[in-house]
Amino acid sequence: MQQPDINDFPFPQSPVVPQLVEGDKLIQFQCHKGIKCWNACCSNIDISLTPYDVLRLKNRLNMGSGEFLVKYTIPYELEPGGIAGIKLKPVEGGSACQFMKPEGCSVYEDRPTACRYYPVALLSMRKQNEFTDRDAYAMVKEEHCLGHFEPRTISVNDYRKEQGLEIYDELGRGWRQLILKKKSAGPTIGKPSDRSLQLFFMACYDLDRFRQFVESPSFREVYDLDDAAMAKILGSEAELMQFGFRLIRQVMFSEPSIPVKTDALDRRLARKAERAAVMDGIVAKVPPEAIKYGDPNDKYGIQD
Ligand code: SF4
Ligand code: SF4
Repeated sequence: MQQPDINDFPFPQSPVVPQLVEGDKLIQFQCHKGIKCWNACCSNIDISLTPYDVLRLKNRLNMGSGEFLVKYTIPYELEPGGIAGIKLKPVEGGSACQFMKPEGCSVYEDRPTACRYYPVALLSMRKQNEFTDRDAYAMVKEEHCLGHFEPRTISVNDYRKEQGLEIYDELGRGWRQLILKKKSAGPTIGKPSDRSLQLFFMACYDLDRFRQFVESPSFREVYDLDDAAMAKILGSEAELMQFGFRLIRQVMFSEPSIPVKTDALDRRLARKAERAAVMDGIVAKVPPEAIKYGDPNDKYGIQD
């Protein structure tokens, strides 16, 4: 049988030009009201959100992080079976952004990082022999976007300033480093427990729930932070978010930066072991084939 030729397949063209550019690279681009393609980019969205995007948008919309996540986002896998990302949820039954209005973006001052960067894509990279990540950029050229034909040139760095990206990049860096670290570590750190993955999601995206967790007595029982440190962490959402990144590093990658009350931890582990022993007694009476464990490291899912 004759094999089909690879050239017969109608591959969709990747909109990302596979060419990295530096910050001082001049690009030809301008987007403005009145351009023929106005809103074309917001009519068919695939916008990943950073934790700082969520912080800005939930406050813009005057709602809690939980409500924002339900109404405006959908989760996706940043890596198979591993840490999660979130994307903007389009309008019901369509592909347009819920924030798109005929006059433009209804949350413009608080629009997400990806919308600000467009048509540039930010890539966080780390070379094998480098210890720190560095930013690189790639150009995105999509047919519908006519901004590339406007007679304006600007460097990528100046474009970032124009789009108010400096604060977004600064406050998004901790999260990008977490993802890079998790992906580049691969299986060497093992599969994170369900609890670690839940912590990642809560600390990164559900900031109000993370605040409740940090304020809870059980958190203070384990982590050895004085009142001044707690006041600083809880004093601003940006601080709280950065603290969340540190906590994730400590829990997922064993990079300790938050002091732990070891005696309290011992007590909690003892309590957990006690409850597990009780469960073992119960489970011993159930036929083995009737039991399905989720996380083998925490087979009963016992909460601390
Ligand atoms: S948030 Fe604003 S800029 Fe971004 S896709 Fe939606 S409408 Fe467009
Ligand atoms: S120029 Fe590009 S970014 Fe601006 S509205 Fe048109 S498609 Fe969107």
